Amino acid sequence: MAATDSSVTTDEISHLVEKKRDQGSHECEVLGTSSHEAEESSLAWQMCTKNPGHHQFIPAAEFSLDKLPQWCRKPLVLDYVKYMCATTVRLKVGYTSWDRPDGYCFSSCRGTSLAHFGSGHLIAMSQHDGPCQCPECESSPSPHQTCHKLYIATAQHVVFNTEEAKATQVSFFYDDEASGTDGRVKIVWGTRGGSKGHEGDNSIFMCVTHDETLVSELKQIQAQYKHLKFKFEGQAGTSPNIDWKNLCVVVSHPHGQPKKITVGEMKSCTGAGTCNRRQFSYSTATCRGSSGAFVLSLEFYEAMPYVSWYTGMMWGAAHSFGGLNGEYNKSAYSNPDVADFFTPISVRLPRSMLWLLGGTWMKSVWCLVNK
Ligand SMILES: [Zn+2]
Ligand SMILES: [Zn+2]
Repeated sequence: MAATDSSVTTDEISHLVEKKRDQGSHECEVLGTSSHEAEESSLAWQMCTKNPGHHQFIPAAEFSLDKLPQWCRKPLVLDYVKYMCATTVRLKVGYTSWDRPDGYCFSSCRGTSLAHFGSGHLIAMSQHDGPCQCPECESSPSPHQTCHKLYIATAQHVVFNTEEAKATQVSFFYDDEASGTDGRVKIVWGTRGGSKGHEGDNSIFMCVTHDETLVSELKQIQAQYKHLKFKFEGQAGTSPNIDWKNLCVVVSHPHGQPKKITVGEMKSCTGAGTCNRRQFSYSTATCRGSSGAFVLSLEFYEAMPYVSWYTGMMWGAAHSFGGLNGEYNKSAYSNPDVADFFTPISVRLPRSMLWLLGGTWMKSVWCLVNK
């Protein structure tokens, strides 16, 4: 811990205290010295006052159907959670930009390199020919000639702009303690950020890598789960599956620790009545380090009220605010670029179209097309 480490200066300790304090109800974790990162993260986990004991936080590897509420123990729901899990990343942001406005989260620490930790998830990737622009290749006389761009969604208060994206270490597959040392964790660095999503505490930044092993793993994950959203939204009918309630799942790296899953309910939703500009509040547990994590809501939506026609609906947004004094947690406004990652590109239609067409009918067509 920084406070007991004689190599840490008084200035560093005061920066640490100031940065931890200067984020309102956002939930980044701030750890003092990178040389003691693991110990500090572990101590923050043990000393947590928001969720002492972390009983609701399920390690990624231990998640199974019986961890879901009885009424939604369905393989399709479990697949959703597994998919979120596989694409969730830990973010370590090693710089706080001078561009953060006065009064904004961490503005008192602008220009410093004290790291904060959050969560995010992969929303897209693409292959590019030409010199790789990852940090390793940028300083090499013979850069790789093929690279992959990975797009990560998180909250803007976690990764504010390109300057911060470039100082962001992105860890894939940090699923348990051992994964950090046995080679399973794959690390890439941000290269550019803030291209869109600055509205409503959303941030999408890009990483570049030539790591074919990582990309191959990610492609397998995409292939395995690519039709999930359509399968869920294709479940329609005249009743919302009798006992169906609203499910809200968060996968994050609380306190910078290995990935954990929490399950709860969506409690309310505010915003314009469109699909893409909503802010959610939820009972699902989060802690410092959960900022920017993907918040998944699965529900049945009354698409055609006059005939009581329901269709499955998946919503997604980045975790933004931790509820204080018994209040519920809150997301950023939902982001269509994030939510649509779950939809196969070939059937990306406006949601109003999906409602009009009805899920079952669409599902039949989809089955025919993909026979
Ligand atoms: Zn905690
Ligand atoms: Zn490279």
